[in-house]
Amino acid sequence: MGSVDASNGKKPTVIFVFSIGGPGSGKGTQCAYIVEHFGYTHLSAGDLLRAEIKSGSENGTMIQNMIKEGKIVPSEVTIKLLQKAIQENGNDKFLIDGFPRNEENRAAFEKVTEIEPKFVLFFDCPEEEMEKRLLGRNQGREDDNIETIRKRFKVFLESSLPVIQYYEAKGKVRKINAAKPIEAVFEEVKAIFSPEAEKVEA
Ligand code: UDP
Ligand code: MG
Repeated sequence: MGSVDASNGKKPTVIFVFSIGGPGSGKGTQCAYIVEHFGYTHLSAGDLLRAEIKSGSENGTMIQNMIKEGKIVPSEVTIKLLQKAIQENGNDKFLIDGFPRNEENRAAFEKVTEIEPKFVLFFDCPEEEMEKRLLGRNQGREDDNIETIRKRFKVFLESSLPVIQYYEAKGKVRKINAAKPIEAVFEEVKAIFSPEAEKVEA
């Protein structure tokens, strides 16, 4: 895809890090900290989909219905939004948050970009803790009600965990204990990014 393909035969210079975890695991919160400290551009697939609904696009109603049901939006829709956001941005380091959510998302994204993620952050958090956070956060999201939350947990276990397992087999997963307070979780996150930052500066 345009600016991030390898058509000149050289290795692509764009870096992707995926941020994956159950709903309420704190991915988005930690991503904001990572941007501040390590200069990545944060792209939340969920935020891009919600913006697409708001923009009144022809896919809006379909996306809204899927989010309300906790279902995964078709890969081509999400990937198009990510691709556009990547191309519009001049950065060469992207933190892709809440994506890929299933094997199809993963395979389709890698096919389009021809780039594997540098590593995958896995925010590991017990379900009771995630449920407590989602019910307490009050962001006015249509999917933060107990009925949809249960569906999102199920989709995470059935569809997103296999993606983690896939990357685990490739040695790319960096697992974080996400059940702690924000600052404590960020200490773990920092330790994962810091060696890389030093390498870049060297
Ligand atoms: N979603 C999707 N594909 C994605 C990312 C999100 O279909 O790649 C949809 C899905 O319905 C999900 C919802 O958007 O339940 C909210 O995702 P987000 O990552 O914003 O929420 P989180 O699970 O992090 O609370
Ligand atoms: Mg989120």
